[in-house]
Amino acid sequence: MKTPVITLKPREEPRIRAGHPWVYDNEIASVAGNPTAGDSVKVNDARGKSLGFGFFNPNSKIRVRIFSKTAAEADRAFFAQAFSEALEWRRRFFDTGKLSFRAVFGEADSVPGLVVDLFRGEPETPGSWLSCQFLSLGLDLRRDEIVGALRDVFAPDGIIERSDAPVRALEGLEPRSGTLWGVVPPSFIMAENGCRFAIDLSEGQKTGWFLDQRANRAAAARLATGRDVLDAFCNQGGFGIQAAAAGAKSVIAVDSSPEALAAAARNAQLNGVADRYSIAEANAFDYLREVERSGKRFGMVILDPPAFAKSRHAVEAAHRGYREINVRAMRILEHGGILVTCSCSHWFDDARFDSMLAEAAADCGRRFRVVEERMQDVDHPVISGYPESRYLTCRILEVL
Ligand code: SAH
Repeated sequence: MKTPVITLKPREEPRIRAGHPWVYDNEIASVAGNPTAGDSVKVNDARGKSLGFGFFNPNSKIRVRIFSKTAAEADRAFFAQAFSEALEWRRRFFDTGKLSFRAVFGEADSVPGLVVDLFRGEPETPGSWLSCQFLSLGLDLRRDEIVGALRDVFAPDGIIERSDAPVRALEGLEPRSGTLWGVVPPSFIMAENGCRFAIDLSEGQKTGWFLDQRANRAAAARLATGRDVLDAFCNQGGFGIQAAAAGAKSVIAVDSSPEALAAAARNAQLNGVADRYSIAEANAFDYLREVERSGKRFGMVILDPPAFAKSRHAVEAAHRGYREINVRAMRILEHGGILVTCSCSHWFDDARFDSMLAEAAADCGRRFRVVEERMQDVDHPVISGYPESRYLTCRILEVL
């Protein structure tokens, strides 16, 4: 069968040539060969030069997601090749036989819309399991090939799907979750930076683990010794527990989710730091205000909120939100205190985050020294020409 061909309007190709893998509906001049939803199509510029092959979705504004410059179909061999290359990149940095890590990061690993995390159990809960999100229609229709290729490359004991991200709706897809292959235990223990965490990948409660912060948690822990730490937006305790294990004097972990806090408290026990670790269920904005009023001061504050800017239109409101929590955090730090502050939305770029921090410091009349400028860990690769891949900013500051 001949591959259908999408031809772009004149001058629509530079962004794609620069590495961006999406073709939007309004950039297309013609569609030849009657592709149906999910088919592979060839993408040509207005002069007929090939830009690559992608998944077609007539129901999405992202009409084509390019997966290859040369391969016309994404079959099991294609996926196996892409997964092997993804694994090879990660092997350069860490022992993929020991760690849990993001195994496939969508477009940044040339598999548009596929996110796969590999979790590895500790000796008391041995095994390795994959947690997948299928976020594009082209992938949804190729799940058998994908599951086959994941088994070929990663040899896991089980594969679970957690395709419950709202972006699926933009592709015309329903949420889906459940075991795709093998057996995934209801819970297991994994290790990160020398600490141990209980993980639950099951269908009901959304848990899993934010693997992108691994190196940033280690960086924060290195500076935590002897300090009173406030871990705001703690989720299951990643930052604060590693800080406690590194010798923090005390840790208070704040989150609005009681399930997340229950997991954090269990994890503190697992690591033998429960005597220096306490949890507080609260809106972090309110909690920081209360602390300021009470006069209590901390030696380290960690801010790792959910993405405030989920779209271009939300950037201004997000700026105000980040500025407010960062001002509050700076105010409750003692002299020489450390602020570890993060943003996880590509809409809110580094330059904006840094100017927001400078404004926050001016607001509370304090200065800071930049200790470290950080981003997402290497298993979430950043690709030139595809700014969406660069989404996590982390700054470590010393407040003077
Ligand atoms: N720091 C965590 C990840 C944080 S994810 C880690 O290292 O893994 C963001 C967390 O913020 C979620 O657990 C969510 O429950 C919590 N959250 C969202 N809005 C909040 C609010 N207004 N106040 C407190 N916690 C909030």
